[in-house]
Amino acid sequence: MDKKLNNLILVLNCGSSSIKFAILNPNNKKKYLSGLVECLYLSETYITWQCLGLKYKKKIGIKINHQDALNFIIDQVLSQEKDILKNLIGVGHRVVHGGTKIKKSILINDNVIKCIQDAVSFAPLHNPVNLIGIKTIIKKYPVLSKKNVAVFDTSFYQNMPETSFLYAIPYNFYKEHGIRRYGAHGTSHNYIAHQMSFVLNKKFKLLNIIICHLGNGASVSAVCNGICVDTSMGLTPLEGLVMGTRSGDIDPSIIFFMNKTLNLSIDEIETILTKKSGLLGLSGISSDFRYFEKNYNLKQDAKRSVDIFCHRLSKYIASYTCLMENRLDALIFTGGIGENVPLIRKLTLLKLSLLGFKIDSKLNLFTIGGKSGLITESSSTPAFVITTDEELAIAQETRNIIINIK
Ligand code: ADP
Repeated sequence: MDKKLNNLILVLNCGSSSIKFAILNPNNKKKYLSGLVECLYLSETYITWQCLGLKYKKKIGIKINHQDALNFIIDQVLSQEKDILKNLIGVGHRVVHGGTKIKKSILINDNVIKCIQDAVSFAPLHNPVNLIGIKTIIKKYPVLSKKNVAVFDTSFYQNMPETSFLYAIPYNFYKEHGIRRYGAHGTSHNYIAHQMSFVLNKKFKLLNIIICHLGNGASVSAVCNGICVDTSMGLTPLEGLVMGTRSGDIDPSIIFFMNKTLNLSIDEIETILTKKSGLLGLSGISSDFRYFEKNYNLKQDAKRSVDIFCHRLSKYIASYTCLMENRLDALIFTGGIGENVPLIRKLTLLKLSLLGFKIDSKLNLFTIGGKSGLITESSSTPAFVITTDEELAIAQETRNIIINIK
């Protein structure tokens, strides 16, 4: 066992259909334990984790919900690591939506829990499960109950200008009900922006970059002079790109049509747009990008879905270049798809050749599986793959708040 085991942070990232967890030291970035519960609510829910170099995989059960999965993580996995547990100094929770009131990472108390609850309608798939995570940890680890920190996806977007965050609907919906663009995935976009400041050897406040976080959820953000000036996710994480099961942008009239002409209820429409659309809806087969990568040249449904995905992505990137003032320092791909699927990067950059992108095929194919680096030729507008580490970013935010507790 590592003698310098100290200052550890437990990070919990409860997603809509998965839970990621990790224990790490935010100072030296060493990860002692990390794991993932996948396929919640599906026929087979399983957990994979690694601890001190050893890897484990277990089936948890059938149609397991968030609460049962969290109990398994705490009672069956974390409880085995007593030396690690006793060195925890705090817990960082990823929370998707801070709503109208919370603008940055914050120590959790009853009032913060209420604010996260109040923002449930802005992130209906995420905030409720984030709250289950918070309440479970507080109950199971009472010694740490006053050392839980919420790190919000929406924080990165607080300085967006009105021109980006307001919708062209009557202004009072913003003033009275807080309806505006809030963005999501901010922890990852913020982490990548800081990495790029290092990679490009450029002061953060001089950075002009466009970041594509492409995972099950997907979003693009535009950073100009170190400030996020626009992002593709909106009031909720449903707007923007084509995602695993989310539609992204649609004509709002489709909702009226589904409701009035097809007699679908609002709840049914919400389920269709959030859980049955995107890559899953287009293909009718899968939301997992491995399927699309494998079948792009073999099956029409896979080709169609990928082409639409890249069409939408390239339109967003091109539109964000007009927010860069006079210079784009780099375009960055990250997230499970951005980091691992050269096909997506190639198809997207080919559409953007007018902006000076020239992909380097060898670098593109090589940069997968956790590698970061440039994927364009030296004469090109630079495009990079940078691996994201939301757990590290959350742990560092948590540490910064915990060390200031009196
Ligand atoms: P999230 O954090 O939003 O749940 P991730 O960032 O983990 O999502 O990305 C998940 C997506 O990335 C899935 O579509 C998955 O198929 C895809 N993905 C992950 N690894 C690979 C890989 N090696 N090859 C192809 N696709 C991958």
